[in-house]
Amino acid sequence: MDLKKYNRSIKLLCPTCGSDDFINIELEIITCNNCKRELSENQLIQENDKNIQENVKEVSSKIEEEAIKLFKNKFNSFK
Ligand SMILES: [Zn+2]
Repeated sequence: MDLKKYNRSIKLLCPTCGSDDFINIELEIITCNNCKRELSENQLIQENDKNIQENVKEVSSKIEEEAIKLFKNKFNSFK
């Protein structure tokens, strides 16, 4: 299992500079490699929460659209 790949799919961005390049991921303190801002893991997740929520919303609305399309196609084929 490729954990690195999995981590990449949930991209956390630095709230100060927007970089996703973090170093010193230890003792729950994460340091941005770009602006050197230090954040706790919880802080980083909180700061990214809005982004994550928007991504989830976008993905789920796309799935909903697809489901509606499929349903409509099926419904039309019954006519
Ligand atoms: Zn930064």
